[in-house]
Amino acid sequence: MTARMGTARLGPAERSAALAKMASAELDVVVIGGGVVGAGVALDATTRGLSVGLLEARDFASGTSSRSSKLIHGGLRYLEQLNFDLVREALQERALLLQRIAPHLVRPVPFLFPLTHFGWERPYVGTGLVMYDTLGYSAGLTRGVPGHRHLSRRRALRLAPALRRTAFSGAVQYWDAQVDDARYVMTMLRTAAGYGAHVASRAQVTGFLREGERVTGVRVRDLESGTDLRVRARQVVNATGVWTDEIQELVGGRGQIHVRASKGVHLVVPRDRIHSLTGIILRTEKSVLFVIPWGRHWIIGTTDTRWDLDKAHPAASRSDIDYVLEHVNAVLSVPLTRDDVEGVYAGLRPLLSGESEETSKLSREHVVAHPVPGLVMVAGGKYTTYRVMAKDAVDAVAHGLHQRVPPSCTDRIPLAGAEGYQALWNSRERLARSSGLHVARIEHLLQRYGSMIDEVLALIEEDPALGHPLTGADDYLRAEVVYAATHEGARHLNDVLTRRTHISIETFHRGLAVAEEAAGLLAGPLEWDDEQVKREIEHYTKRVEAERLSQEQDTDHEADAIRLGAPDIVPVAAPETSTA
Ligand SMILES: Cc1cc2nc3c(=O)[nH]c(=O)nc-3n(C[C@H](O)[C@H](O)[C@H](O)COP(=O)(O)OP(=O)(O)OC[C@H]3O[C@@H](n4cnc5c(N)ncnc54)[C@H](O)[C@@H]3O)c2cc1C
Repeated sequence: MTARMGTARLGPAERSAALAKMASAELDVVVIGGGVVGAGVALDATTRGLSVGLLEARDFASGTSSRSSKLIHGGLRYLEQLNFDLVREALQERALLLQRIAPHLVRPVPFLFPLTHFGWERPYVGTGLVMYDTLGYSAGLTRGVPGHRHLSRRRALRLAPALRRTAFSGAVQYWDAQVDDARYVMTMLRTAAGYGAHVASRAQVTGFLREGERVTGVRVRDLESGTDLRVRARQVVNATGVWTDEIQELVGGRGQIHVRASKGVHLVVPRDRIHSLTGIILRTEKSVLFVIPWGRHWIIGTTDTRWDLDKAHPAASRSDIDYVLEHVNAVLSVPLTRDDVEGVYAGLRPLLSGESEETSKLSREHVVAHPVPGLVMVAGGKYTTYRVMAKDAVDAVAHGLHQRVPPSCTDRIPLAGAEGYQALWNSRERLARSSGLHVARIEHLLQRYGSMIDEVLALIEEDPALGHPLTGADDYLRAEVVYAATHEGARHLNDVLTRRTHISIETFHRGLAVAEEAAGLLAGPLEWDDEQVKREIEHYTKRVEAERLSQEQDTDHEADAIRLGAPDIVPVAAPETSTA
């Protein structure tokens, strides 16, 4: 019997049990990669009744899936490229995620599109947005966000007083949606585990099991214990994003899919540095730049440049930061400086290799392939359409299983915490009174945990000291740090400060001021001795120092070399070449 929905934990004991289960019997499917695509595949397969394991070499979502612009969107850019099918599909997903699958995690967000040309631009942008709004209606669901509206310069300035008067002539406002990308992946994995999937982080696939040409499973290194295990599976899915080609090489490099990386850098600045009630989208020479509201902050980005260096820790250089500042400052009346930047993060887009030289013109669409019997590969796409990618990959798995497998049903599977969310949101004043927490705090918790808020509140009831905010990162309660370890699969300090919370990009100290307190809270649930607590803090500190220094470098090569000076707390292993 699997756990009741919404209660699946991903604590240390569950990780050990998952690895033991995966090693003990042949599974229908094993998924390599715990980003949004791998997690989506695990949920899709397990809800079709298949037995599933998922292996992630690092922390869940530690690759691209925690480093995006965090938008669930159709992409106005694709509309301009007349790629209507892609936009329609993405907007249908947006409606599903907002209204059915994850209303606690996905929220509408407004954007102002400042117009800079008199005459043609307003009808051009307006027509595009009529189409965007129309394509947003999906079968059986409303769009989930308000429609666009035209604004004079005076009305736009009332919404966004930060804009420089002379930088634009008028504006159009439209709506999209946003998500905490890392949290969404982790919640999807908890959901999959609730339906019976076995999932483990820090478990690296180092090679394949073969029988003749056929892939029959994977070799795995439990990076925490150093032990090796074999996981047998009837089908293996490679969902490793920018690492796709490396996994492909482990089976002999005969794959049809090639994935290359393009780096995108975002800056985080405090909310009060840009006086605006709405997000802003700006055209750039190559693409667009977003100014996105993010709690008490703004996320500003992004860049788009080819990246051939370290994939696990793409480094932002001084030039990347200057590029973003220069473009946003073109429309602000009070320019931002480097001193305003609280956080910086860089991510790698997994782009399918194409004809074009320019990475920004390569396709964001996905492909699914069956390079050798027993192995399915899925790559490309974007965060918003992960569910479609997962469905296509599991259809290919079903084909390889030679048995009848039910069709995908993830369009009707709410993620853990979604059920009951609306009722709890409506009762938030009552929840605030009964818990003794401020209503703003309850809102913050509901938008992170949905109806699983009761598990966080239970921790506080047991130990009221956990109801206090972290000193130096008071958006988050101490209980959230403990919960990250007991329920959310966090295994190290970095996991908590970077992905379960976003303290590493939301504070000027980048998490250093809370490292000791957070490590102390994690020590109990993760059974750390004093030595381990010290190691965790040291590693985190070195990472922050290396990132800060890399962001002072002019070139990618210099930034990469410095970032690599801070090793991971759990280094990944060199892949095997043997396939015996
Ligand atoms: C700057 C930027 C902004 C973006 N903004 C948006 C946006 O706003 N909206 C949108 O829809 N999309 C956006 N995207 C695209 C989107 O983020 C990606 O398409 C998506 O996150 C890719 O997910 P993935 O699961 O394929 O890859 P990943 O998240 O990288 O997951 C792959 C995982 O595989 C693991 N792995 C690798 N090798 C092994 C191994 N040997 N064993 C086990 N595990 C392994 C890695 O550790 C990693 O966690 C953006 C991308 C970037 C870079």
